[in-house]
Amino acid sequence: MNDILPGVSDTWRYLETAVQEIVRSYGYSEIRLPLLEHTDLFKRSIGEVTDIVEKEMYTFSDRNGESLTLRPEATAGVVRAGMTNGLFHNQKQKLWTSGPMFRYEKPQAGRYRQFYQFDVEAVGYDGPDVDAELIIMSARMWQRLGISKIRLEINSLGTTEARVRYRTALVEYFSGVKNQLDEDSIRRLAQNPLRILDSKNPDMQAIVEAAPVMLDYLDEESAEHFRGLKTLLDAAGVSYTENPRLVRGLDYYSRTVFEWVTDALGSQGAVCSGGRYDGLVEKLGGRATPAVGWAMGIERFVALFEACGGEVPAPQADVYIAALGDGTLQRAFALAEELRDSVDGIQVEMNLGGGSFKSQMKRADKSGAQFALILGEQELADACVGLKPLRSTDEQSSVALDDLAETLAKKLS
Ligand code: ATP
Ligand code: MG
Repeated sequence: MNDILPGVSDTWRYLETAVQEIVRSYGYSEIRLPLLEHTDLFKRSIGEVTDIVEKEMYTFSDRNGESLTLRPEATAGVVRAGMTNGLFHNQKQKLWTSGPMFRYEKPQAGRYRQFYQFDVEAVGYDGPDVDAELIIMSARMWQRLGISKIRLEINSLGTTEARVRYRTALVEYFSGVKNQLDEDSIRRLAQNPLRILDSKNPDMQAIVEAAPVMLDYLDEESAEHFRGLKTLLDAAGVSYTENPRLVRGLDYYSRTVFEWVTDALGSQGAVCSGGRYDGLVEKLGGRATPAVGWAMGIERFVALFEACGGEVPAPQADVYIAALGDGTLQRAFALAEELRDSVDGIQVEMNLGGGSFKSQMKRADKSGAQFALILGEQELADACVGLKPLRSTDEQSSVALDDLAETLAKKLS
């Protein structure tokens, strides 16, 4: 679990703001959710035989003996909130949310136990048009932020019935090579054979590569849906590769699944992943409601932005106010507020803690401000202020307090 320190947090804020603006411009509204949910919600949605539920959840009993879990992902909470608040009743929803998620994983670069996700969900939409739009929207984020080292993989998991047929084929195949399976996979063979395809064990890769592929077992409607998605992506100029082994680590997906991956971040290559989960609302006790969404890992997003040369200038003060001598501090405080009132967006930093002229000027320089405003006893008597450019060799000048806002607005624009 990391502390996001000043400086780094500037990059986070910049990227988060950009992404929020983009999804809002596509008509998505924010939903804010609790960090804790009943454990049962995640077991039922993500699936009992998944890495997350089997070994990654932070689960505890509260004082009342109820089993609660720190959310490992956002979709289950969005669906739970939508159901308890009647948001899906005869209406569609386009929602976004963001915040920390918790998974007890082996920490390494790009993989943390508290990490942040930006998450979008479109609930009530069944066509491939919304799947395409969600992907196009993410492509816009990369483009807007200068992120190039990223590619899109897509797959379709079909309907539940199609997956049952595929499952039979998988069980048959994996049973034939059972002596080569690792312990996890042998257990999954009985409980959830699709999960074997998700294995991260390098020794399993050759066996997984040779397994039957879902696309050969797709039902006609899902195949049509998948073609619809590809047609729209082609028309939008979003390139992709079809990856028949992309199954995603959560059980609730159906039909479209996709992942934006990068090679720029070592083995933690998944930056943004998502898919359709048409069965989830019903599984959680609601009326059958189609839905699709994606989640982006913000740590990996930030790292990729930087790997692509992205830089965010640290916010710096515009002016630094130095006050020296009797009665000047009160006037300097009032001046700072006047400037904040009258110059749009101005960043004013007050010298706090007194100090000699020299030490105040040192701090002014360190603040990154363009100008120091110097208010001494003489300036106070003359109703003016010393305006000292800090980033050029221009001379210090004296400006009447009445003209200061206008002068600064001009100089800073
Ligand atoms: P991975 O295959 O890397 O474990 P995942 O399939 O478990 O990813 P999702 O559950 O789909 O990931 O979560 C969506 C996104 O959240 C991922 O694409 C990734 O960017 C990010 N993410 C997932 N787990 C972590 C983690 N432990 N630390 C940081 N980011 C993570
Ligand atoms: Mg994972």
